[in-house]
Amino acid sequence: MFSASRDCERARKTMVARQLVGRGITDERVLAAMGKVPRERFVAARQRHKAYSDGALGIGCGQTISQPYMVALMTEALHLSGGERVLEVGTGSGYQTAVLAELAARVYTVERVVELSERATEVLCDEMGYANVSFKVGDGTLGWAEEAPFDRIIVTAGAPRRPEVLLGQLGRLGEAVVPVGGRRWQMLTHYRRQSDGSVRESELCECVFVKLIGADAW
Ligand code: SAM
Repeated sequence: MFSASRDCERARKTMVARQLVGRGITDERVLAAMGKVPRERFVAARQRHKAYSDGALGIGCGQTISQPYMVALMTEALHLSGGERVLEVGTGSGYQTAVLAELAARVYTVERVVELSERATEVLCDEMGYANVSFKVGDGTLGWAEEAPFDRIIVTAGAPRRPEVLLGQLGRLGEAVVPVGGRRWQMLTHYRRQSDGSVRESELCECVFVKLIGADAW
């Protein structure tokens, strides 16, 4: 008998095996979280059959839900062990937020588009029952000063330069992952605050994200 949820479960397992493990994602906690979060809940009904495809999908308002592999890669690069307070800039559909909420103590997520933030709140809190996520509508390039410092920061849109305001809200030995570069492609960049207070930067891979729009961005 046809079962949409069983089909999705199977597609999710295949996605984890082929798109994530197959491309070198090894963090067992990340793999388990992505094997658990139902990505189909974060896309429109007409897109559900494509929920586990190997790419980004439109979510309305000119925005996208990121490719599963990119979500896994960015999450793995944050080295989450469970107790962290994480700032996410660019809630979008809320899918990456859910993966983070599975792996960290609390997620503070900022989205500039009201409609997307409201929809993500509905799915994550009302439908799925996540209690460790705080939502804010506004310019995430300014961070969330009242809740800073953060142990981890993730930006899910492309910044034109090193995000100094956000890095200023990164706590001691904190880590951040941010796509930085031009309009057409960016370099996924990892930042780590050192014990002397400086921030060390390393390049992970090329990527393509929608523009980060705000006071300290495009
Ligand atoms: N991680 C999301 C997901 O899983 O659906 C995908 C995010 S989408 C690629 C990028 C998001 O960043 C968009 O929803 C966009 O509106 C948002 N965004 C862009 N500039 C922003 C800013 N300054 N503050 C907050 N959100 C911003």
